[in-house]
Amino acid sequence: MKKRIAILGSTGSIGTQALDVIAQHPDRYEVETLTAHRNVQLLAQQAIRFQPNAVVITDAAKYGELKALLAGHPIKVYAGSEAVGEVVQLPSVEVVISSLVGVAGLKPTICAVEAKKQVALANKETLVAAGDLIRRLVKRSGAAIIPVDSEHSAIFQCLAGECSPIEKIYLTASGGPFLHASAADMARATKEQALKHPRWSMGAKVTIDSASMMNKGFEVIEARWLFDLKPEQIEVLVHPQSVVHSMVQLADGSIKAQLGTPDMRIPIGYALSFPERLPLSVKRFSFAQTPSLTFQKPDTEKFRCLALAYEALKIGGNAACALNAANEVAVEAFLQGRIGFGDIATLVEAGLRKNDFIAQPTLEDYLETDKRIRAELRIRN
Ligand code: MG
Repeated sequence: MKKRIAILGSTGSIGTQALDVIAQHPDRYEVETLTAHRNVQLLAQQAIRFQPNAVVITDAAKYGELKALLAGHPIKVYAGSEAVGEVVQLPSVEVVISSLVGVAGLKPTICAVEAKKQVALANKETLVAAGDLIRRLVKRSGAAIIPVDSEHSAIFQCLAGECSPIEKIYLTASGGPFLHASAADMARATKEQALKHPRWSMGAKVTIDSASMMNKGFEVIEARWLFDLKPEQIEVLVHPQSVVHSMVQLADGSIKAQLGTPDMRIPIGYALSFPERLPLSVKRFSFAQTPSLTFQKPDTEKFRCLALAYEALKIGGNAACALNAANEVAVEAFLQGRIGFGDIATLVEAGLRKNDFIAQPTLEDYLETDKRIRAELRIRN
């Protein structure tokens, strides 16, 4: 029996790589649903190639164009973000790859969890904004969340076969394009410089987050919820070679690591095939070519976003939701050339300070926090 898969955000970086993994194993996987925001041309091409049962374009203005491109194919076409939540709940869908960008992924991920799907989670903002809620929903529904983020996949892989508690984890970070830049040079960085990631090929939002190390801060929060850890059990290490994808330290002092060439198809493949492994044609790592692997503590005075993420995690409640909303506003403003790179951390801090604390937020509280912080910061720009 083939596993039937829904990909949310199929035209993005994770979505296209997931389709590449699926194309390498047509005997095991079948595409049931594809969704995209507005890249109608690529979505239509993917649909014609993989013949899903349904496609969704969330930008409703593109519906007519998509419908015309798929005329003559037995593929149902839907539009609007509500439809994404509906298609993931279809009984025919077994695995949902949640690779939307930003807090837009929250509601569809909740729908998938409530429908007890296996969720391959690449949308980290869902856990950053509402980790506590997602954790409770997963417990109640019995759904499985398998991380796709490379660091969390590494930890998940290291934990296979372990039944003792985790002592601590080491999340590795490449350090991004500004690892060796001065704080002043980093603050003045252009969009082109910030978008040039040394190791990973990713979408624009996560690449900017990597340059500011907000991404690593988000991953600290993500790890807290995925593996039920305290903030002090999570340590970030700068590892510029990006070969060790993360590590787990266990009760006897043993440290387990997962290594390999930085290629997202490995964690995507593992999330689809767990507990098995798929043969994948990705480049093999060579110790001879990279004989030295280095690790160092990050500079949290320069990378203020990382320190702010730890702070939000310690505050708890809806603080990380405010942190995420402020960052989404800031990154968008930076990509549109309205603020400098150095202003991102300043805006994120402002968002955190302006938040009205709610200790145990409901879904409505999280959505309201997200909306309020966005509105507050947009006025100030
Ligand atoms: Mg990552």
